[in-house]
Amino acid sequence: MAGMYSHLAKGFSEAAQDDAMAVNRRRLNSCSQHFFDSPKKVNGVAAALLRCVMCDGWMPLEWADQYARGFMHANGDPEVVLPGFTR
Ligand SMILES: [Zn+2]
Repeated sequence: MAGMYSHLAKGFSEAAQDDAMAVNRRRLNSCSQHFFDSPKKVNGVAAALLRCVMCDGWMPLEWADQYARGFMHANGDPEVVLPGFTR
C-alpha cells in the first residue's frame, strides 16, 4: 500500500510509510462523520488529497467525492460532508 503514496513521503522508509498509512487508517476509521473542507486549489487545480477536519485523516479527492456520493445515496446532503460537491 505504501508504494501507492510513495511520492508523498520521499526519503521515508517503506516501514515509516506503512506506519503513516496505519495511523491515517485508524484516524479515518475512528471518525463518526468526515467533514472535508472545500477542496483546496493549487494554481487553479483541485488538490489531490483532502484532510478531514474532524479526524485529521486524509484521502484522495476521488475517495472523498465518493464518500460524499455515498452520503447522498443514503439520503444525506453531500454538502454536509464535502462543501462544493458536484452531483
Ligand atoms: Zn473524519
